[in-house]
Amino acid sequence: MMHDVIVIGGGISGLATAYNLMLRGIDVQLLERQVRTGGNAISEGFDGFLMEHGPTTFNASVPQAVAQIDALGLLDQAHDLGPDVKRRYLRDDGKLTGIPASLTGFFTSNYLSARARARILIEGLIPRYMGDEESIHAFASRRFGREFADKVMDPMAAGIFMGDSRELSINGAFPKLAEMERTIGSITRGVLRAKRGSEPGRHLYSWDNGIGTIPQVLTNHLRGRVHTGITVSDLSRTAQGFAAKTSRGTRNARAVVLAVQPHVAAQLLEQIDPVGAGVIGAIQAPPVNVGFFGYRREQVAHPLDGLGFLSTRDDGRILSGSQFASTMYPHRAPDGYVAISAYAGGVRNPDLVSLSETDLVAEIHGELAETLGISGAPVVTRLRRWPLGLPQYTLGHSVRQKVIAETPDRVDGLFLTGNYTKGVSVANCMKSSQDTAERIALYLSVTFKANQKCDIRLTMR
Ligand SMILES: Cc1cc2nc3c(=O)[nH]c(=O)nc-3n(C[C@H](O)[C@H](O)[C@H](O)COP(=O)(O)OP(=O)(O)OC[C@H]3O[C@@H](n4cnc5c(N)ncnc54)[C@H](O)[C@@H]3O)c2cc1C
Repeated sequence: MMHDVIVIGGGISGLATAYNLMLRGIDVQLLERQVRTGGNAISEGFDGFLMEHGPTTFNASVPQAVAQIDALGLLDQAHDLGPDVKRRYLRDDGKLTGIPASLTGFFTSNYLSARARARILIEGLIPRYMGDEESIHAFASRRFGREFADKVMDPMAAGIFMGDSRELSINGAFPKLAEMERTIGSITRGVLRAKRGSEPGRHLYSWDNGIGTIPQVLTNHLRGRVHTGITVSDLSRTAQGFAAKTSRGTRNARAVVLAVQPHVAAQLLEQIDPVGAGVIGAIQAPPVNVGFFGYRREQVAHPLDGLGFLSTRDDGRILSGSQFASTMYPHRAPDGYVAISAYAGGVRNPDLVSLSETDLVAEIHGELAETLGISGAPVVTRLRRWPLGLPQYTLGHSVRQKVIAETPDRVDGLFLTGNYTKGVSVANCMKSSQDTAERIALYLSVTFKANQKCDIRLTMR
């Protein structure tokens, strides 16, 4: 049977693409390798705790994604960060410093030296940069000073992307900051304007049952169109479109969306788009380990009055960051208990893969105990190991993005979406999936409308 579209991969990107195609009346089928959908968006409840194996927050600063969440009926049920999230902690040389979550936060704490704080104040006087693509570290050093780059932006790059601020592209990783410099000439002025203006605030949402709620609801809407436990092992062209060879026979479609991790996309593209395969295959995604720990409240001396902490690189420890899960959102731990997540690995510590699960859990707990003043053993522990974590938007990513976006120009009817294309966050994945669905609808209407082969209700924005 010939379908209009086959989506390969049932993470947030694949589900959101299929959902938006379905809304347009397009005949779409989604094939997912695992027995469940969601990709790395896995929320697991046990013993009254809730662990996020992958994403923990939905960033509400992407309006199209928020609109989609609303249309799915999830906005009313969303929790913003809890009232006790008052600070963001940074850990340097083992010592935690709380930075108030406000624009003046860095000036009311002594985390940065007086000289570094004074340097931040002249950011607005630094001229626009007209040169080649910069790393996060080079950008931050130039605009805010070296100490800010080392002690604030480098921990952010490690915490958010599990990457290295000297290798990640400012345009790829933090495009809004690069854009502010280009258009306004200053990040400080840009942030102040955004605060005063109509820009959606920096809200971070989740739900009672965690981020896994999003794929679950999308899957429910797609009922009958989602097929799990099916691995696509080969993709080839046919006279009418594509043939996807799977563990359960061959599926045919006029158009195909690859919504899989970059290394899988590169394999599937090898025969039909060697140019794309080469570029995507070079994207690195270092391993990430997520530790989850439950403690009785009285075991933890730290007030846990924040989002968590990010860590500088030169303190010789393995955690790049931690989140105070039960402070961020309700239902993460039973009454009288707290839940803490911790992240280790990435570009800073790729060798942790060689540690056994028991040793790694012990290392992470030991480091949390030292940092947060925890006594005794955790009540519950869980470890999730992602052998391939987040794709790294290293220097040159804009060139890669162009090659990825031009895929349908090289291979008619083939589209790519996923966290290595236009942003790693769940919200960005949802936005680029909407854009992908729109491009596919246009492609199908232009290519097949004459034959009246597909009934497409095309809605252009
Ligand atoms: C530890 C961690 C923490 C994160 N924290 C946050 C956060 O707090 N907030 C945020 O916004 N983002 C966060 N992210 C990023 C975000 O979760 C991901 O970028 C996003 O979920 C990726 O979705 P995706 O659908 O593009 O890819 P994936 O979730 O990787 O989905 C790809 C899917 O393709 C399937 N597949 C692979 N090969 C095949 C095949 N051959 N045939 C069929 N199916 C196949 C896979 O099984 C998988 O289900 C985090 C990521 C990680 C790893």
